[in-house]
Amino acid sequence: MPIPLYADERAKRFFYYGYTGKSGDYFWNTSAEGLEPTLTYPNGTCGYCGNRALSIQAGLRHRNRLDSERDYDVTGYTCCCKEAMDEVEHRTLVKQMKERHEDELAALNATAPAPSEAVFQKYAEGVLQNSMKSAMNSFKHIKSPGDLKKLAERLKSV
Ligand SMILES: [Zn+2]
Repeated sequence: MPIPLYADERAKRFFYYGYTGKSGDYFWNTSAEGLEPTLTYPNGTCGYCGNRALSIQAGLRHRNRLDSERDYDVTGYTCCCKEAMDEVEHRTLVKQMKERHEDELAALNATAPAPSEAVFQKYAEGVLQNSMKSAMNSFKHIKSPGDLKKLAERLKSV
């Protein structure tokens, strides 16, 4: 088939020139790198221009020598119209923006102020001193080895 008149410039790279018998013609390269599914209705109509969508066989992109039937599965449909190409471009831009956003957020988080270890140490010492005081205070009220055992168990979780 010739490249359709409604084909977008960006879609032309998905066609290749080949020969059938004597004459040359353009063919849709179902496994072209960069082909992604776009809005297509179950009856195979492009959701943007209404033309018949074209199949994608992503499994044929990176085949090894152990070819399998599954490589030939149709993995999706797309169209060569402007809007279909816009859809892929739009998706790529959204993805890039999300990645940039994550990078910016990570950079911003890296500049967050660091808590002081010395201040924390002072705080922890205070907490421990209070625990120690309270434990020794409790010891004064111990009447039996059982009470002492209970107190010791309680201190384990402090
Ligand atoms: Zn279309």
